[in-house]
Amino acid sequence: MIESVSQSFVALQAGLFESVVQPVLFALGLTTYAEMGFDAVELFLYGVIEIALVWLLLRPLEALRPVERWSDRKPVRVDVLYTLLNRLGVIPLLVFMLLAVPMGDLDGWLRLHDLIPRHLEDWLPALRERPWLSFAAYLLIIDFAEYWRHRLQHRFDFWWALHSLHHSQRQMSFWSDSRNHLVDDLIQGVWMSLVALLVGVPPAQFVMILLLTRAVENLSHANLRLSFGTFGERLLVSPRFHRRHHAIGAGHEGRHRGCNFAVLFPLWDMVFGSARFDDAYDATGIRDQLQGADYGDGFWRQQALGLRRLVTALTPQGSSLRSGA
Ligand SMILES: [Zn+2]
Ligand SMILES: [Zn+2]
Repeated sequence: MIESVSQSFVALQAGLFESVVQPVLFALGLTTYAEMGFDAVELFLYGVIEIALVWLLLRPLEALRPVERWSDRKPVRVDVLYTLLNRLGVIPLLVFMLLAVPMGDLDGWLRLHDLIPRHLEDWLPALRERPWLSFAAYLLIIDFAEYWRHRLQHRFDFWWALHSLHHSQRQMSFWSDSRNHLVDDLIQGVWMSLVALLVGVPPAQFVMILLLTRAVENLSHANLRLSFGTFGERLLVSPRFHRRHHAIGAGHEGRHRGCNFAVLFPLWDMVFGSARFDDAYDATGIRDQLQGADYGDGFWRQQALGLRRLVTALTPQGSSLRSGA
């Protein structure tokens, strides 16, 4: 059964590649990128399956146990667009095109000077014989790096200027996890590439980690009254746990400028003192939105306003006027 599914998947991938991608690459004189194009089709298909599964599972759950009931779902639409651009590969492809050459150069230089080993297994040879342990180690490392990236997104004014776009959704749903500024997506690309460079995540494992992370992120953003219980809440990020991160006030104010930064494992928040396990389902958004601050409704307006906030944060007067955090 699994074999026949995977055979049909590969056949579909090959069919799509030959009928759509290959002719385009040929027409543009880019046939040297054929292998990369074939991989891109695989990621595109994963994205389609992911969106279908997530919609089939989470949409009924949101209807059954919503935190909030909305009469108008229009504000959700822009998040659907972010999800399609992200999951179907448009944004990842742009980020890849911008980063492939500089990251490749950096990788080559570091290896030429013998500054980094190729894989985590070079540091911990015991992992070579234990693929599951090695997968768990990569997963933990990437999640740890993502926790700190997220903390710094709140910590630095210039980064919050971009990341606040993610927090500005007041009708948060399972579509909201990809709602990010394009410059922020680019910074994330650099961050992840550096981590991958340092520990050498094998590509197949990287795809698995990516799919797993995205699935948990879709669930944790859902407009869903769901907690995993006293123990489960400390094991995996739940909709309740992440909703606290999006709460007006608690999500972007206080000593750490927010709480519950973890993507997969609340462990990091517990270790670094930023966990909040309150039994609450707060309204989401940013404090200054209550005073009328505009973060934009449509994609381009949101991107433009984000850039404007970034410029303000980078100028001396602007950084002292940090609002909402
Ligand atoms: Zn955040
Ligand atoms: Zn979020």
